[in-house]
Amino acid sequence: MRMRIKAVVVCTICILSVVLSQIAVFGMEFSDVPITATYYKAVNQLSNDGIIQGRGDGKFGPRDKTTRAEFCAFVARANNYNENYYTASGTPFTDVARDSWAQGYISYCYENGYVNGMTETSFSPNDNVTAEQAIKVVVCASGLGDDSLSKVGPMWYSGYVDVAKRSGLLDGGIYTIGLPATRAFVAQIVYNSMLIKGESQATGTDAVDVSGNRLSSGTTVAVVDDGSVTNVYEPENIWEPDDAEALEREYYQKVQYYGEDYEKYIKEEENSNNYTVADTNEEYEYVPIGSSEGMLVVIDPGHNNSGVDTGATGNGLREQDITFYIAEKLKPLLERNGFRVIMTRNSVKENVSTESVSASLARRADIANRNGADLFVSIHCNAGGGTGTETYYCTGSSDGKVFATFIQEGMLDAVGLRNRGVKNARYAVLRNTNMTAALLETGFIDSANDAKYLGSEEYQQAFAEGIAKGICNYVGIEYQ
Ligand SMILES: [Zn+2]
Repeated sequence: MRMRIKAVVVCTICILSVVLSQIAVFGMEFSDVPITATYYKAVNQLSNDGIIQGRGDGKFGPRDKTTRAEFCAFVARANNYNENYYTASGTPFTDVARDSWAQGYISYCYENGYVNGMTETSFSPNDNVTAEQAIKVVVCASGLGDDSLSKVGPMWYSGYVDVAKRSGLLDGGIYTIGLPATRAFVAQIVYNSMLIKGESQATGTDAVDVSGNRLSSGTTVAVVDDGSVTNVYEPENIWEPDDAEALEREYYQKVQYYGEDYEKYIKEEENSNNYTVADTNEEYEYVPIGSSEGMLVVIDPGHNNSGVDTGATGNGLREQDITFYIAEKLKPLLERNGFRVIMTRNSVKENVSTESVSASLARRADIANRNGADLFVSIHCNAGGGTGTETYYCTGSSDGKVFATFIQEGMLDAVGLRNRGVKNARYAVLRNTNMTAALLETGFIDSANDAKYLGSEEYQQAFAEGIAKGICNYVGIEYQ
């Protein structure tokens, strides 16, 4: 019955469109989903099937984000969820209320192994679903893979993305790992998964380009704000992270989401995938200095109190506070061991720069460079779904690698969170400092487990001691 009513509505709009506009001869259900959009078929099919709905004003909102709860509803409906026959058995998530509209959907997806929580007891239903989370869920819901595809580390999703690419799940989808999935992308992958499962056939007119030529499946088009098409790419130019157009789109999407506020963009860079795990078992030529006399260590408590370059948050904690508390405990330990110490922030309320994220990061490196520091440590907390400790050095720096390895070992000995390894990346503070430098991610502030340690004064002290021991070991002196 529902479909019939929908069909009538579509027809009425078709007729109106023909009458009102010579251009809109193809008709469209949503005014912001042009027939030339790659996701046109997906959106209209799912809408007709009652899986995904518009915004209620004749628009679909293809560039809007989707919460994790809404996404569960789409996936559940696309996978035979029927509210009349399904009795939710509940979830372990304390943030999904029993009387919440989404409880049934989330429970259904959880029971069927499509979703996990952010932690064992939380689901974050109102957070936006990210591209990689959406891909993982749809891979699982399509029967293309399961949790065994999860990888350890920040690129936990790479197995799912590989499978999704190979199976055509991402065809026609525009997405950026680490960013919220758009409704257009969500519709595309849910639709693709239904095609893969053979439960739905594409219907309607094939998409056409601005010249009226038919577009084959997988063609990518760029869409500007008002939904009109600016460019039609050749079918072989399907999204690949390495191609220039894709990078341009990625940049464009970031600006769309973050506007002039690059804070989150830089945060994302900090959590970016551009690292490699160092082989710390390999032999290296390394002669310790043997004395801390005259050595200057610059400690950088990551992030600012407020404004720009603020840190991650989670479990009632703010990264910028935790990094400072660890740093202020580290300072006297290093001084006791004969080092001179300068901090880039001298109080928990201080901002290194209020100008911009890049200025804030540049100034930290500048403080170390101008003072002729011998060693630089930038203290951070991780975020983004994970657990454990990791330490970074600047790609290509062999001293940095040794330094980072000692610090990593020091933190593991002192606190004992999971070992995520020593990694290299070209983070701003690492590449812009002239001396041996390390950036350490003590633990995940958004992990309930890690946050217990990060928020504890006792363990902040333990982190500081671990870092201080690591620095002493690197220099080749006995920690006092
Ligand atoms: Zn940080």
